[in-house]
Amino acid sequence: MARSRRRLRRRPNLATRRGRGSRSRRPKRPGHGGLGSKIDSRSRKDVYGKKASKEGYPARSVYKLEEIQRRARILRKGDRVLDLGAAPGSWTLYTAKEIAPNGKVIGYDLKECTIALPKNAELRVGDVTELDESELGRFDVVLSDMAPNTSGKRDLDMYRSYELYVTALEIAERLLKPGGNFVGKIFQGAEFEEARAKTRALFEKVRIIKPKAVRSESYELFLVGLKRREIVAPPSGEEE
Ligand code: SAM
Repeated sequence: MARSRRRLRRRPNLATRRGRGSRSRRPKRPGHGGLGSKIDSRSRKDVYGKKASKEGYPARSVYKLEEIQRRARILRKGDRVLDLGAAPGSWTLYTAKEIAPNGKVIGYDLKECTIALPKNAELRVGDVTELDESELGRFDVVLSDMAPNTSGKRDLDMYRSYELYVTALEIAERLLKPGGNFVGKIFQGAEFEEARAKTRALFEKVRIIKPKAVRSESYELFLVGLKRREIVAPPSGEEE
């Protein structure tokens, strides 16, 4: 028994995707992943979940955005930020701190959020596919952590995630200032390359980030668009 544990520890990447049948009883520490078993994933959930409640965030997903911010510096003091798929509010809270004191973040979600917010953050209930954009103004950053309700049918879930990603990207296309940044969640499926190509068309640089807080068995990734390209087409009213 002791010998087999030692073997699993020395070859951690072989304990991949074994799910409930995994015999590993020594989950890897968070941040030491790559691929891992579900035991590893549950352990991470505990670590990130506990950290989130200790630090006052309603969800562990905050550490995904924190890593993206550390690696890509998407948010700056004073930014106006639109947060799509914001409930239960962790990204909104984190963003509010990063852009304080003069920045402002507005979050939208299908679900209502009940958390206390700082003055520079606002959470609204709404379907982002039906946003009234006319009163929103322009943003320095658009974030999307939107995820579909999963059906268990992998291809369908991947496609729905792609649709939500494209919805967020199109909102960014209309509302982001030139030079602005974008983060969008997408499940890595058949449409992933198409999503990346659409993102490249809009931004000078595109990065793919899979934060360590993403569960090891998850297909979720983030595409990060940096520096929205200058808008060359004139507004439609000027064409007449
Ligand atoms: N970033 C959030 C946080 O840190 O607290 C977590 C977001 S959660 C993973 C994904 C959210 O996307 C869900 O709350 C869901 O209601 C929302 N969502 C999915 N489709 C949406 C849509 N069409 N409009 C608005 N929100 C949507």
